[in-house]
Amino acid sequence: MRIDLHTHSTESDGTQAPADVVASAREAGLDVLALTDHDTTRGWTAARGAAQAAGLGFVPGIEISCQRGGRSIHLLGYLVDPGNQALVTELEQARRSRATRMDRMVERMAADGIPISIEEVRAQLAPGATLGRPHLADALVAAGVVPDRAAAFRDWLHNDSRYYVSHYAVDPVRAIALVAAAGGVSVIAHPFTGSRGRVLDPAVVLEMVDAGLDGLEVDHRDHDDAARDLACSIVREHDLIATGSSDYHGAGKLNRLGENATSPEQFERILAASTAGGYLPPG
Ligand code: AMP
Ligand code: FE
Ligand code: FE
Ligand code: ZN
Repeated sequence: MRIDLHTHSTESDGTQAPADVVASAREAGLDVLALTDHDTTRGWTAARGAAQAAGLGFVPGIEISCQRGGRSIHLLGYLVDPGNQALVTELEQARRSRATRMDRMVERMAADGIPISIEEVRAQLAPGATLGRPHLADALVAAGVVPDRAAAFRDWLHNDSRYYVSHYAVDPVRAIALVAAAGGVSVIAHPFTGSRGRVLDPAVVLEMVDAGLDGLEVDHRDHDDAARDLACSIVREHDLIATGSSDYHGAGKLNRLGENATSPEQFERILAASTAGGYLPPG
């Protein structure tokens, strides 16, 4: 069983439609796939339909933008009830704030003579999808300012850039409660990524564990050996679920489907921990 529990589609900052992500997953030889778009569940229906037709297992998921002390934390929520009102309200708030934040980033860049408009950014996005910096990167690529997303982030869009503007995001402890109340299972995405030291304070992770966190994404391409070791030790100490995933974004990132995977044993724990359900098994 090859299980990849973290992927993105055009409903957020992936470059393939949900059904095409599923088709690529099949080509990559995966058995089970989770779609985890940023702050939206909109891709689930199309992905589930495609998975059913292809005989692939499908796990509905979401990657919730969180923030603590000015630092961004991504929380994966699996098998949540997509109609849960508290969750829906929170996601809408984040998505609204992402729109005003993008206006401000474009204003800052335009003021500096970088030729980009909010209309050009919007043109990079499927209607209703979650707007993010990758779409601004795509607009810069389309305008011929940079060759690809990676260069856009390196030169203009990284977190310490003068053009960077943050957006509203829920506190991670509250996000865990929201996922649990929606019947889902919470896993911190790539907890210890970042080039300059640890982006996520282990003390915050412990606070999240106390709040009912279910797991950590241990195997991820942005984790070096030290990050994996740290994640593993926290997993062992608190008996958390350990996942591995690709964080696939289609052509938007180098991450390839199945490059990291979750073991069937750990996946069973996710299924057992969900009270909402919604898993489509392979076959
Ligand atoms: P945002 O949520 O709008 O602040 O944008 C963050 C998103 O940008 C993340 O979800 C990543 O997928 C994406 N991202 C960050 N760094 C890069 C990069 N170097 N190349 C491509 N995408 C990136
Ligand atoms: Fe992303
Ligand atoms: Fe993420
Ligand atoms: Zn992701």
